[in-house]
Amino acid sequence: WERRFGSEETGVLQRLHDATADHGRVDRRELHAIAEEFRLPVAAVAGAAGFYADFGGARGTRHVRICAGTSCFVSAGAHTVPLAEAALGVAPGHTSPDGSVSLTEVHCLGYCYASPTALDGHTPITGPDLGERLLAAEHPVAAAPAIPYRVASRNAVVLAGLTGEVRSWQVWPHVVTAESPGAVRAEVALAGLRGRGGAEFPVADKWRSAARSPGPRFVVANGDEGDPGSFCDRLLMESDPDRVLEGLALAGFATGASRGVVFVRSEYPVAVARMQAAVEAARAAGHLGCGVHGSSFDFDVEVVQGAGSYVAGEETALLHALQGLRGGVRPRPPYPTESGLAGLPTAVNNVETLAAVPWVLRHGGATYAKLGDQRETGTKLVCLSQRFRHPGVYEVEFGVPLRYLVDTLGGGLKPGFRLRALQIGGPLGGFLSPDDLDVPLLAEALSKAGVALGHGSLVAIDDQITARELLQHVWSFAAAESCGACTPCRVGTRRGREMAANFPTGSEQILSQHEKLLEVMSVASMCAFGRGVPAAVRSLLRVYRDELTSGDA
Ligand code: SF4
Repeated sequence: WERRFGSEETGVLQRLHDATADHGRVDRRELHAIAEEFRLPVAAVAGAAGFYADFGGARGTRHVRICAGTSCFVSAGAHTVPLAEAALGVAPGHTSPDGSVSLTEVHCLGYCYASPTALDGHTPITGPDLGERLLAAEHPVAAAPAIPYRVASRNAVVLAGLTGEVRSWQVWPHVVTAESPGAVRAEVALAGLRGRGGAEFPVADKWRSAARSPGPRFVVANGDEGDPGSFCDRLLMESDPDRVLEGLALAGFATGASRGVVFVRSEYPVAVARMQAAVEAARAAGHLGCGVHGSSFDFDVEVVQGAGSYVAGEETALLHALQGLRGGVRPRPPYPTESGLAGLPTAVNNVETLAAVPWVLRHGGATYAKLGDQRETGTKLVCLSQRFRHPGVYEVEFGVPLRYLVDTLGGGLKPGFRLRALQIGGPLGGFLSPDDLDVPLLAEALSKAGVALGHGSLVAIDDQITARELLQHVWSFAAAESCGACTPCRVGTRRGREMAANFPTGSEQILSQHEKLLEVMSVASMCAFGRGVPAAVRSLLRVYRDELTSGDA
């Protein structure tokens, strides 16, 4: 099986990155060379090169990525991208005639607490004076502020490593030498731990399913945190990469997988580097390798950098990306736990999910199950955006009211701004009115309120953003990130973008027009992306109904 994995498929995206860095673009000669090297059809490599944002168009000597995510959109009064375009003198997706600068629009850089943001090469530039800073970027720029992290749990803190209090790799040597995979799965089942990436699937069930499938197997840490507004996975990978790796190793042990992959989005270059360094350090310390800690268990990890695609965070699309293919979604079944990477059983878990596993095994599943709410156990990292008085990442127990997050932890909005709507869970999550914030942080309760938790981001939308601007923003994101594999989503998101740009104000017509489109998308789309957009748009239409139908939008 070594021949079917390793530097074979997972090396394709990195080779495309290298070609782009060396030559400013992936040209025909490079496509043929990469196809030859990886024994792939040229068309497959060309398909990947054309799919991912990182390989689109030519690169200038200076390459700037401007964030068009929701927090940046809000903090720059809906004008983030034009602001960068004016400062650099080049349109998004283009390179200046002399090749000195190029600009790309991306949908989140993970600096939502300090928006607006651009990534100049690998240097983040943030803040309200972003335009001036981009103009002066040849001079040293101040480092972007670190992510503020606060614990707001009355009980034990699961992700204490972020505060430097608890070292990682404490449970791994004992587990791998003295426990059984079944015992690890049983402890995680007792904890009630569910996936934190948005799907909320019980972790132990996924591991059991993978373990049942004939090996060899893989485990994958999904660090492709694409939800605009969410930056907790970036915090984990940059501040506590060992905890993520230890969680992945425990997942490998519980499923009988001897290879692990950490997939990190390319918009997080620091996270990529820290995860790679953590893997090297873990190998040197004997946590990874053959016969780990004297046991009969082999386990090693590879870090793979993504290439700029929101949908590649969906697990079947992610597996395509890891194999150097277009990041398109495929129908399930078969589930990845039966047929995943290289067609072999693969358990994909979100980074935050894996980071909680060492704590569960150290303190016991029953202790973990006492945290949070009976309906949803444990803690969640919640991200508050720049418009809050106290933005940052907060670790809270499930079940706290959203109002507590917004008013008590976030401190309300910065002076001069009034909360008009709260976006929760990113573009597929949805919007709530400020009057509806007594709903608890629980998937079921949020679903009843017409929104979804997603990655746990809260983006404050102030009253200076109009309903029309917000509607266009949501549809533009959906149209840009649809993978195109199914017609209802591919065509529907473009139709939605057109309707948002041209909708008639002051009438109910916009709502009925939208509803027909949303109905088709929600029932006929193939994956959670196309089925999630309609719920998010419906929530926006609900919260902004008066503005949209009164003609004030
Ligand atoms: Fe792709 Fe959208 Fe269809 Fe999902 S719903 S498979 S993202 S086109």
